[in-house]
Amino acid sequence: MNTIIYKIDPSDLDMTKIKEAGQIIADGGLVGFPTETVYGLGADAMDASASAKIYAAKGRPSDNPLIVHIADLASLTDVALDIPEAAYKLARRFWPGPLTMILNKSSRVPLGTTGGLATVAVRMPSDPVALALIKASGTYIAAPSGNISGRPSPTLAEHMIEDMSGKIEMILDGGKVGIGLESTIVDLTGPVPMILRPGYITKSMLEDVLGEVTVDAAILEENADKNFRPKAPGMKYKHYAPKGDLTVVEGEPQKVIEMINHLTGQCQECGQKAAVIATEEDLEKYQCEQVFCIGTRAHEETIAANLFDILRKMDDMGIDVIYSESFYNGGLGQAIMNRLLKAAGHQVIDADTGAHKNCL
Ligand code: AMP
Ligand code: MG
Repeated sequence: MNTIIYKIDPSDLDMTKIKEAGQIIADGGLVGFPTETVYGLGADAMDASASAKIYAAKGRPSDNPLIVHIADLASLTDVALDIPEAAYKLARRFWPGPLTMILNKSSRVPLGTTGGLATVAVRMPSDPVALALIKASGTYIAAPSGNISGRPSPTLAEHMIEDMSGKIEMILDGGKVGIGLESTIVDLTGPVPMILRPGYITKSMLEDVLGEVTVDAAILEENADKNFRPKAPGMKYKHYAPKGDLTVVEGEPQKVIEMINHLTGQCQECGQKAAVIATEEDLEKYQCEQVFCIGTRAHEETIAANLFDILRKMDDMGIDVIYSESFYNGGLGQAIMNRLLKAAGHQVIDADTGAHKNCL
């Protein structure tokens, strides 16, 4: 299949191209498009055979449900049932934006879109290209991240082209995404709202609107039980993994630098190609030849925005072994570390002792 690639200026939408993309979705085809979180791989959410094409293109396990994207609040009752007041409160505060809500699904949403679940994940994105595409399609758009299953999520059109060229009808190139981490997912079907995936909208931002909010035990380190079954089916799969062997080093900043210098020195002796992921503040302190700047601790959004791109760059350069600083500070820290630890297969080294920890 020849994949059409259109550049779209988000501040000056070319509606002829957007309409062509919307028609592809309406006809049951696949379009890669930018959102403010990451690039999505979209299909008609209301057509099970269209959703099935997403699973095939990504190589995604069929029990890992898709997020349904809507362009206005009135559409919520088309895709969800028994909508609690909490959903409207969150929508008023955070939509359009990087928040996905889990609600009971309406009968119109096929089980092929929800991975067989009776619940549906719904989001209204804020990216103008995404909103225009949903409207132009005349339907709702099921879209997971546009990467091949298991690879880092796409934050640039180039990443989508790398993973999906030849497999889908069209990619809309809206440039680099703003946030760079997938949406926060909150489950509103239980007695207390529960975060199933951390993201740009933090627990305290949700608590501000809803009062008590819990976090799925699968996200929290202290529940590192291998048999644990997370509520968001996607959480149990290997994610974001670079080809090189990635390990996160935790501890006091100076100790982390010393430990990483020691470890990359060993790699050099063994002839392995090593790389370090560090913030701007520490770049000069590493002896390794390849040091990747992920952003600055002063603005942790920069760390979020660069993470997936850096992991892909490591692949392009054929890096064998990667050591990363950890980035727990601030409101976005939980979301960043959730993705980084998954990318590392939860391999962590304690900078003080050199001991391997295995944490969720
Ligand atoms: P992705 O957009 O690739 O990050 O994938 C969507 C994420 O939403 C996956 O982690 C899914 O498991 C999660 N998700 C989608 N629908 C549901 C649902 N009904 N209940 C719980 N999690 C869901
Ligand atoms: Mg994904």
